[in-house]
Amino acid sequence: MTKKTLPLGSEELISFALRNGTPFHIYDGRAIRRNAEEMMRAFSWSGGFINYFAVKALPNVNIIKLLAGEGFGADCSSLPELLIAHEAGIPGSKIMFTSNDTAEEEFLTAYKLGAVINLDDITHIDVLRKVIGRLPETLCFRFNPGKERSGNVIIGNPVEAKYGLTKEQLFRAYRIAAESHEVKHFYLHTMVASNELNEDYIAETARMLFSLVKEIKEKTGVVIEQVDLGGGIGIPYREEDEAISFDHLSGRIRALYDEMITSESLAPLRISFECGRCITGPYGWLVSRVRHVTHKYKDFVGLDACMADLMRPALYGAYHHITVLNRPDAPLDHIYDVTGSLCENNDKFAIDRALPEILPGDIVAIHDTGAHGHSMGFNYNAKLRHAEYLIMDDGIYRIRRDETYEDYIRTVLSSPQIVS
Ligand SMILES: *Cc1c(COP(=O)(O)O)cnc(C)c1O
Repeated sequence: MTKKTLPLGSEELISFALRNGTPFHIYDGRAIRRNAEEMMRAFSWSGGFINYFAVKALPNVNIIKLLAGEGFGADCSSLPELLIAHEAGIPGSKIMFTSNDTAEEEFLTAYKLGAVINLDDITHIDVLRKVIGRLPETLCFRFNPGKERSGNVIIGNPVEAKYGLTKEQLFRAYRIAAESHEVKHFYLHTMVASNELNEDYIAETARMLFSLVKEIKEKTGVVIEQVDLGGGIGIPYREEDEAISFDHLSGRIRALYDEMITSESLAPLRISFECGRCITGPYGWLVSRVRHVTHKYKDFVGLDACMADLMRPALYGAYHHITVLNRPDAPLDHIYDVTGSLCENNDKFAIDRALPEILPGDIVAIHDTGAHGHSMGFNYNAKLRHAEYLIMDDGIYRIRRDETYEDYIRTVLSSPQIVS
């Protein structure tokens, strides 16, 4: 069981919402910092351990800075994400560039920043040569295990996945890189899970990569310096879910490391992750005001937030817990669909959800929106993107203002230009 909590008292959150306007995302920076610290401590046995925070989970420079303060790096997959990491002051050596279907200018920017480039395909070796004129000193390849692993719901079956190199391609790729004499440091990466709460699955990924490190050395002579286990550690969206413990997971990985790396004389081998969700996810809330309660064939609660503020429920059928801040202790004796205002019937945060009686004007908190929440937002129906707040010890900071109509319309040309 995971009890759902709020970052402030419900009265305090209501008055903050009424003063500042809804909807908005609010993050508990104190809890995010503690959580990051815990992860670093749990893996401190592993020299040089790093989590490259997946910027896409919560691409706000202020958050990336906070995490950098705890020793985190950044995992980027696009040019703007690289610029966000750079702006947050993360040095290139702590940036992992794990992109796919990558543009040449993205490779070039990653190289110029000194980021570790993680190639998604064997043909990208030549692309990289063409773009930067050589191969970088540090190079990583993304492995796709194909039939060896089953994958999970969000990321899908590896055989169907567009990502990564097959095993045969991987051996060839390391040989090519080694023969270039330009690459001095070799990394290995995989990402086969998303929102995975089964610790066995994550430990299996470590086992798979440790075994591959040995095989790569035997087959190609290349010594891997770092394995990156990717992201994908899940969070307990439902109260009945159990969080993964960094300490426990770390213990399992350490045992595998001793057995498969140290005793095989493959140490030192650094370990890294690219977790986003499990770092910030549980420490973000989407706060919204109830506009209408309507009774049709079903009972509906219409919020001032919509799926443009949080699309996970509509996209994946994902569960997000909802607390009615005005009645935190009332019995859950009403059944509602909780909707937004898009002209799109899957604009729902919850379907057939047991909640207390809800009245117009009530304020609700939608839990666990600290990762892949605001960042997945969009502008359909010309909806404007909303503010983000960060709670720190000395106060609550606004870290993104509300988008205005002027922001939104800026890219539209009032006097159209003939271009062809
Ligand atoms: C999305 C992604 C991550 C982060 O995943 P989380 O589920 O947020 O931990 C890390 N690495 C890559 C390559 C990704 O695509």
